[in-house]
Amino acid sequence: MTDKRRPDPRCPLRPGQPCTLCHPNATGPQDCPVVYLVMSDDELREGLHQFRHRT
Ligand code: SF4
Repeated sequence: MTDKRRPDPRCPLRPGQPCTLCHPNATGPQDCPVVYLVMSDDELREGLHQFRHRT
């Protein structure tokens, strides 16, 4: 059984890299305002999707 209590600390916006808490208001990807912005915008989310598939 996997322990899912802790969220994935990787930055969703920088594939393969850990969250470095680059945003002062974030305590991790789960409450990162930048991640929230990108994920709530269709075009940005699509752009991230394409970027991920290029790397
Ligand atoms: S604070 Fe947000 S943008 Fe910065 S590394 Fe962490 S998840 Fe990524």
